[in-house]
Amino acid sequence: MFTIGCHLSSSKGYAAMAKQAASIDANTFQFFTRNPRGGKAKAIDPADVAAFQQLAAESGIVTFLAHAPYTLNPASDKQQTCNFAREVLADDLQRMEATPGQMYNMHPGSHVGQGAEVGIAKIAATLNEVLQAPHTTTLLLETMAGKGSEVGRSFEELAEIIARIDSGLRQQVGVCLDTCHVWDAGYDIASDLDGVLRQFDQAIGMDRLRAIHLNDSMNPCGAHKDRHAAIGAGHIGFDALHAVARHPQLAGLPFFLETPHDTLAGYAEEIARLRAQKMCQLRTVPN
Ligand code: FE
Ligand code: FE
Ligand code: ZN
Repeated sequence: MFTIGCHLSSSKGYAAMAKQAASIDANTFQFFTRNPRGGKAKAIDPADVAAFQQLAAESGIVTFLAHAPYTLNPASDKQQTCNFAREVLADDLQRMEATPGQMYNMHPGSHVGQGAEVGIAKIAATLNEVLQAPHTTTLLLETMAGKGSEVGRSFEELAEIIARIDSGLRQQVGVCLDTCHVWDAGYDIASDLDGVLRQFDQAIGMDRLRAIHLNDSMNPCGAHKDRHAAIGAGHIGFDALHAVARHPQLAGLPFFLETPHDTLAGYAEEIARLRAQKMCQLRTVPN
């Protein structure tokens, strides 16, 4: 089964997101757990969760991906910023247990000049505090473009964070590969997708890969910019992104569009194009 969806607004709750997803032929979705700049989270309504579970079962939605506010920085040189990141992550992971067995994605952080090693150590220390053995959520570290002092610009940096997670908690940690970010970080998924996946496997291990952010990039490979483009409207291109979506090693993973569209119709169109291409591939052509 091809699992694809897009980023949705969480302002009206879980059931509303399931309805929106179903309306654009998506069978998964992503949302911010709170204001992306890191405000207070809205209380979770158990009735909304129950309505969501029902709708999700009816429309074939099995997985969703919650995204942490992107301004959190557990690698900061300021104790207050690290504390804030730890509090929000701990609270978000607690809230995730209202919908057991789902996934939670975060940007690892930025070392702000302290060096990647210091950043990696600080991020791992925070994760060791916020991950809890009884939790059912998988925490995903996102591959980053390498803008500024972002940690996670290489597969090796993510592997290093994971290696520092307590062995009893490590099975709760995975990776979300963002196609725009890895491209901007210098991984040429357009001309050597197999090679990039081999590098991922060698550094991190394919079993850690749990989700894909499917985005085109406004910039050339290695630009370290992180500006997303609509599928086919950027430097990666439709064919290369389609090849990601149908790659046998990625089959079964959920794909999330974080492309710039003002309306749901833009996502509906991208999803239809990516789904149609899958159908074509599966259709038996009479010869
Ligand atoms: Fe992200
Ligand atoms: Fe992303
Ligand atoms: Zn991005």
